[in-house]
Amino acid sequence: MQLLRDIAQLRAWRAALGERPDLGFVPTMGALHAGHLSLVEASRARDAVTAASIFVNPTQFGPNEDFDRYPRTLEQDCARLERAGVAAVFAPEAAAMYPSGDATRIEVEGLSARLDGASRPGHFRGVATVVAKLLHLVAPARAYFGQKDAAQVAVLRRMAHDLFLPVETVVCPIVREPDGVAMSSRNQLLSPAGRAAARALPRALRAMGAAYAAGERGAAALVALGEAEIAREPGLRLDFLRAVDGETLLPVDAARPGALFAVAAFAGATRLIDNAHLDAAGQWRM
Ligand code: AMP
Repeated sequence: MQLLRDIAQLRAWRAALGERPDLGFVPTMGALHAGHLSLVEASRARDAVTAASIFVNPTQFGPNEDFDRYPRTLEQDCARLERAGVAAVFAPEAAAMYPSGDATRIEVEGLSARLDGASRPGHFRGVATVVAKLLHLVAPARAYFGQKDAAQVAVLRRMAHDLFLPVETVVCPIVREPDGVAMSSRNQLLSPAGRAAARALPRALRAMGAAYAAGERGAAALVALGEAEIAREPGLRLDFLRAVDGETLLPVDAARPGALFAVAAFAGATRLIDNAHLDAAGQWRM
């Protein structure tokens, strides 16, 4: 596996692959877990060559967020990616991605201000900007993202479409811990009590799914059920629980195919997210 530490190295590696290689790309912020590796596996199953990136992107963190605390485990991550069959890892310094004088940002209007974008002003501008840079440099046939960050998926799909990027976006299901908590690099930041409290997120989504299965279709009723479940957990502070359209992220009144039920809550200083959605057949997926 090649470890590419700057843009010149990435460009040289990419040029050697030729014009339109069967290349899959998995962008990450590192501190890898089985959720990230599921994206790598999806690419390995489909693409001749898989590349990944590890970059804790400063522009997607707000001034009072956890950029400094975010776990960084590059050596261990590289070993895992190598075992998983990744051909190259791009792990640049921030100064390489944002050199002095850098002034261009990608704003996906509307979408960027919904869900997590409303709670974290500027977050999706940072995400869209860094992913646009990465997709431009790596020029993969396919890029892999996790449904765990459902709002990010909506923003990035829109961006790739609007910028005519010749990349197919592949979305992979949420990988969960045995107790149902969605895997996240941020889970490492939780105290034992916070980690226990985090279980209320999938519990709320499961309760909503059970009500849906029993025939409830009102978005407000489903959301109220989930909120009540979170309110029972004193170790969590709810940021939002919303029913929206998975593509536009605008509110929906009823649970129908394409609806997304997204939740965000703080356990101490750590912000956790989770979601469920209704697939095209109207099945509750989480
Ligand atoms: P991150 O390192 O948090 O930026 O995540 C990199 C990619 O992995 C994003 O596309 C995430 O949506 C995805 N991802 C993170 N956690 C999970 C998970 N538990 N299951 C599936 N994909 C995930």
